[in-house]
Amino acid sequence: MYIDKNGDRWYRGNLHTHTTVSDGVLSPEAVKKLYRNMGYDFIALTDHWKYGEGTECDPSGLLVLSGCEYNFGSIFDAESGIFHIISLLTERNPEIYESDSPQAALDKIAAAGGISILAHPAWSLNTPDLYLSLRGYWGTEIYNSVSGTPFNCRPYSGNVIDQGAVRGFYPALVADDDAHFYRGEEGMSYIMVRLGDKPLCTENLRTALLSGDFIATQGPFFSFGIEGDEAVLRSETPLSCVTFFTNAAFAWDTCTVAKSEPIFEARFKIEKGYTFVRAECTSPSGEVGYSRIIPLKH
Ligand SMILES: [Zn+2]
Ligand SMILES: [Zn+2]
Repeated sequence: MYIDKNGDRWYRGNLHTHTTVSDGVLSPEAVKKLYRNMGYDFIALTDHWKYGEGTECDPSGLLVLSGCEYNFGSIFDAESGIFHIISLLTERNPEIYESDSPQAALDKIAAAGGISILAHPAWSLNTPDLYLSLRGYWGTEIYNSVSGTPFNCRPYSGNVIDQGAVRGFYPALVADDDAHFYRGEEGMSYIMVRLGDKPLCTENLRTALLSGDFIATQGPFFSFGIEGDEAVLRSETPLSCVTFFTNAAFAWDTCTVAKSEPIFEARFKIEKGYTFVRAECTSPSGEVGYSRIIPLKH
């Protein structure tokens, strides 16, 4: 938990985690203890096809969200669509089977009161045509720790997300670990959710997530919004670089602020023709923060 300079409380969590219940190497109890010891306040255990029950805060203070990962498609047939769907916060087991379609899974998650995330679209080689064929998911992973080296490839999905945003699709963006091996991917990418002075519980977390009151980050603690005709990113932690992303392909020097001295604020002028803006900010030690996508109206 982090208290910002306004006195608001932010809670740290990992939304995508595997245990020995599927293909992770640590038991659920060991994973919960590990994340709690790293300072996390909530976690979702999202074992493949094994629904994990949620529990309110345990004596250690860790809240467990109900969750599961439903993976569809063959890894050798990306062209037909590899869709890994994370289910969160359902009120019951949504009873999804491997014979269901990805869209049926999304519909069942919604019917069970949950929210869905499209996991690692870059790793899955999802094109915008493929992921825009699905409806009803709340968010997308912009960064997935275990998809990076030394385990895997394509951890960053920002480019493929921007291709969808060009077409008017603005999902919530999350970062998470997808922890399996616990050899360095754990604790790398997470979200921080603002609950202000409200207690940490499932319903407050759900409300804050759905209202976009969170950031995705590996370290930077920042805010992002529109002020007048500028997009403004402010950080409580020092940054070495801030980059703004829109539907436009940029000329040099117009979208990136990089300095040798620490940056705490960066501004970007919104020009006519921009339909959305988002930002990424990097700490001096290389951790990245990922803003939400803000649609722009002119
Ligand atoms: Zn997956
Ligand atoms: Zn996974």
